This record gives sequence, structure tokens and C-alpha cells, in this order.
Amino acid sequence: MKLYSTNNPSTRYSLKEAIMQGLPDDNGLFMPDFIPELPDSFFRDIQNLSFTEIAYEVAWALLKDDLDATSLQEIIQDVFYFEVPLVPVTERAYCLELFHGPTLAFKDFGARFMARIMAHLWKESDAKPCILVATSGDTGSAVAHGFFQVPGIDVVILYPSGKVSEIQEKQLTTMGGNVTALEIDGTFDDCQGLVKSAFLDPDLKRYRKLTSANSINIARLIPQSFYYFQAYAKLKHLNRAVVCSVPSGNFGNLMGGLLAKKMGLPIHRFIAANNENKVFFDYLLSGEFQPKPSVATISNAMDVGNPSNFDRIVDLYAHDLKELCKHVHGFTFGDEKTRNVISYIYSKTGYIMDPHGAVGYLGLQEYHKVDPDSVGVFLGTAHPAKFLDVVGPLVSEPVVIPDRLKEILNQKKHSISLSSSFDEFKDYILAN
Ligand SMILES: *Cc1c(COP(=O)(O)O)cnc(C)c1O
Repeated sequence: MKLYSTNNPSTRYSLKEAIMQGLPDDNGLFMPDFIPELPDSFFRDIQNLSFTEIAYEVAWALLKDDLDATSLQEIIQDVFYFEVPLVPVTERAYCLELFHGPTLAFKDFGARFMARIMAHLWKESDAKPCILVATSGDTGSAVAHGFFQVPGIDVVILYPSGKVSEIQEKQLTTMGGNVTALEIDGTFDDCQGLVKSAFLDPDLKRYRKLTSANSINIARLIPQSFYYFQAYAKLKHLNRAVVCSVPSGNFGNLMGGLLAKKMGLPIHRFIAANNENKVFFDYLLSGEFQPKPSVATISNAMDVGNPSNFDRIVDLYAHDLKELCKHVHGFTFGDEKTRNVISYIYSKTGYIMDPHGAVGYLGLQEYHKVDPDSVGVFLGTAHPAKFLDVVGPLVSEPVVIPDRLKEILNQKKHSISLSSSFDEFKDYILAN
């Protein structure tokens, strides 16, 4: 795979450059210069394939110039050892549960895949990379887990102090080893801003091979296309149009779906489901993209005021808003609606949604008003037990906490507190 920068379409980078660098020097985003279409035979038999078989076929079409088949096979088996079930919630709404990985959120897909690909491409003679990750909660722990004890790679996580749940914070701050957690006195956007500035800072660039593991890294994006094929495979026998609702923050997850669609996956439409952080929704209506400071909501992993994958999405549709709107519908929902639908669906069906999945469900519900015959998939991006403080009071039975989460709660937090000033952050990196 060769890649170009969204800011300069005539550039070309290798996969290794794109992954190790994270962002191109011109501050654009890496995009594949060619998106292969999968053959009809693949879609004809897709219902008979396991998730790892599907993942391998899709990955191979994209990466066959960069890895040999055996290595890719091993990486896929190693990364996706957990199940990816599609669970019926109502007659026309299914939850694609993406939270059965080690940190119980969908970011395990991207983070684990990226760690393994990076370790594979990295050679002894290369500079040792330091991964910088800004997180609003789930990214950091998924990346920390994915890279934990990967030799030669350090991970530094930046998270907004007091703005992640207790469980999320424990997941970020109890790894140790090659993983360091920086607790930033600021918002997620401040953390993201610090990481972006670090990549552009000449002193830091000279000092250390910095790389990103946010959803801007192409190695995170690629595996986020695999599970859309899985959803389609499981619903194909219904012979109905399939729509996918994606609870969105930085829009890496939706971008994975749009990539799948470009590869030929017959998803009728995507729904970009937002909480009150709705700059993308506003963009679809007005054609104007106006980043804003994020506001705090109960679906905090989606509290993003300046979505980092925005440029990729408009690039994919050649900046043609009308074309984009043919593929993507946008909706936005407040916390009250989100809480209400968690209670409502629980009382009607017994199914417990987390606040992010619930925003996805709401998007589907709105969409079904205009297209009642379609069958809908909403992405369950986190296990409800990760958001006990929100979900607990809304359901009348205890939310079962998986064992691996319970163990983490008893461990001691280790973090380093910093202000949101870039100079302070830079000094820290230079001193370590
Ligand atoms: C990160 C995250 C999202 C948003 O995904 P993006 O790719 O940033 O749009 C949604 N839900 C959960 C639980 C997340 O962790």
C-alpha cells in the first residue's frame, strides 16, 4: 500500500513510513492511494467465513505488498482472539458488540493490530519509537494493552484529569513497564493539541522518533473496516438493505466503515451518531466545518470538538458534500435522550446498552423513521460495565463486571500530573 497526504495528493509514502510517522510532515492525514475492490466471490461466500477469515481477506487485499501471507495470518490470529457477536436487540436493530477484547472497547481492534504490525515492520537498526497517545478514555488503555511489553517501543498516554471514569483511569494508569500515563490538567482537546504540537516540534523530532497511535494512524484505521464485513455477513440472508449506525467522536470508526464500503461492501447507508458534540452533524447540514471546544457528556469517548479524521472523510469523497450525504446521514442526541433509551430498551428487551452504543441505537431509530424497511446495525463500542455510574441507575439488575475489569480496580494508580502547557510537556519528554 502506498499513501499520500490529504494536504498534498502528489506525495507518496510507504506503509512503514505512514505507520511510524503517524502524520505527514505537512500536517495532513495519510490516505491509501488505491483502495482495492474485493471480488464478487468473496461476497458470495462471506456468510460462511469466520471473523478472522474475513479480516484476513480484507487485510490481504490492502496489505499484500507490505507483508507476506504467513505473517499477516499470524498477526490476525494473534490480534483477534476474541469474539465479535451480532446480537439482535429489536426486530430491526442489531448490536455489533465490539467490546469483547482485553480493554472492553472497540479500540482494541485498532490498537492491537497497530502494535503487531508495527512490531513486524520495525527492524533492530531503526530508532526506537515512542508512541504518544491522547485519550478521552478508551484509546489509551487499548493502546497501552496492545503495546504492553512490545520490545523497543515506549508508550506515553495523555489523559484529561478528572474527565475519564474511574475504571478507565485505572486501565490507563496501572500497566507500568513501557507505558507511562500523563494526567493533564485540561480537556481531551488540550491533550490532542499537545500531541499534535509535539509532532511538529523540531526539537522533539530530533530527540526521539515520535509516533501517534490515535485514530489518525493508518494502522488503527485499517482493522476498523473488518467488522463491518462481519455484520453484513451475518445479515446477508435477510436480503434487506443494511444500514450501520456509528457512535462517533474522532470519526475513525466511521472512516473504517466508509473504507469498507469503498472496497465493495454493500452497506446501504451509514449513520454518524453524535452526542452534543456535533460539528460533523452541522457540517452535513451547512457544508461548513467549524471546530468547537468539546462539551462533557455521558458518552465521554465521543466528546470531541475537532474530529481528527474529518479531513480523511471529505478527502474520500473528493470534497463533494452532496456525494458524502448520499452515503452518510448525521444525527445528534443529548444525554437525557441517551439515558431514556438505555432504560427503555432495557425494560422492553433486557438488553443493557452503554451510553455510546445507546447514541448509535438512537441514530438507527431516527433513520428508521424515513427508511423503515432497512435492517440496522449499531456498533456497541464499549461494555456497559465501563460506564457503571451512568448505566447502573438506569437498569434494575446489577451490571455484571467482567473479571479482568475487577482485577484492575484493586490496583494502584500511577500517573504524572502536568498542566496543559506545551512547554511543560516538552520538558517532560526531553527529560525522559
Ligand atoms: C473512541 C470511542 C468512540 C468514538 O470512536 P471514533 O472512532 O473516535 O469516532 C465511541 N465509543 C467508544 C466507547 C469509544 O471508546
